[in-house]
Amino acid sequence: MNFRMLSTAWSISLRGFGVAMLVAMMGCSVFRGPFVLERWPELVITEQPQTSTEVTVSYFGVSTLLIQDGKNALLVDGFFSRPPLHKLLLRQKIRPNISRITDGLVSAGIAAKGELGAVLTVHSHYDHAMDVAVVANATGAMVLGSESTANIAQGGGVPKDRVVVIKPNVPLSLGDFEVTFIETEHVPLPGTRNKLLGKRIKAPLAPPATEFDYRSGPFYTIHIAHPQGRALIQGSAGYRENVLESFDADVVFLGIGGLGAQSDNYVADYWKHVIEPVDPQRVMAIHWDNLTLPLSTRMRAAPQLVPWHRSVNEVIERLDELGRKHGRQLKLLPVGRPVPLFRH
Ligand SMILES: [Zn+2]
Repeated sequence: MNFRMLSTAWSISLRGFGVAMLVAMMGCSVFRGPFVLERWPELVITEQPQTSTEVTVSYFGVSTLLIQDGKNALLVDGFFSRPPLHKLLLRQKIRPNISRITDGLVSAGIAAKGELGAVLTVHSHYDHAMDVAVVANATGAMVLGSESTANIAQGGGVPKDRVVVIKPNVPLSLGDFEVTFIETEHVPLPGTRNKLLGKRIKAPLAPPATEFDYRSGPFYTIHIAHPQGRALIQGSAGYRENVLESFDADVVFLGIGGLGAQSDNYVADYWKHVIEPVDPQRVMAIHWDNLTLPLSTRMRAAPQLVPWHRSVNEVIERLDELGRKHGRQLKLLPVGRPVPLFRH
């Protein structure tokens, strides 16, 4: 066996070992994460919509939220593909999963043309924006977001006249909804991912592409005002000080992804700078699920990768304590079912 054969055999056996490890990890419940909604039955919203014109919200994992009032429907992010862990770990190219997106749109009742007015994106990482083009092309919806998100839409074939690069702090009317994008920050990430935060997608991005090709662009908090109430959506667990003082909200959707790796002080500051200025009665935790598993009504938490981080359930426990201390209800949304957005 010459050197070349030896090194090829070595690399094949290494790759085989890597794949075997991955399969073992993915089967292991530690890496799949614990169930969440079953752990907190008292926090899960059980109310049913009373009328067809009541504003409702339906949750589809990460920060994908469908908000509708019987006349108009808005979808935050619209991420349904949820590529598997091994593709991300091996840095393989990913692409929108058409059947998962179709199933998601059908279950949300927005699969037909004209059922969805707009897709609003909080930033352009793959777990928020990779499906915007497929969703917009299937439904005829407008895509609203940063220039980076516009490049994902354009790379996926959405006509330019249905893509809107938003201006921060300038309200847009969509039926009875008034939507405002406010610049914010992203939760700190490990390693290279942190250095790439804020980098832009500068040209149309056609799939397949790697996770790293989905550069974040700027980050937005989205404020939604409607005659029935006001909501604030914080997709990533980052914050910018003193930008929310002129907004109020009955409900805040609070992204908690990555919060388990942050200090107690960070969690307290996140609450202080996102929740306190807008003074909501309810805080609904989102972005807690293991986004490498398919959407399910029994979703598992993002796994706790190192023992010194908090688990998702510990983060929820901490936020529930903060809510009680400040007179606000922490809530969890059931998956895939509309619940009243503004009833208290
Ligand atoms: Zn992100």
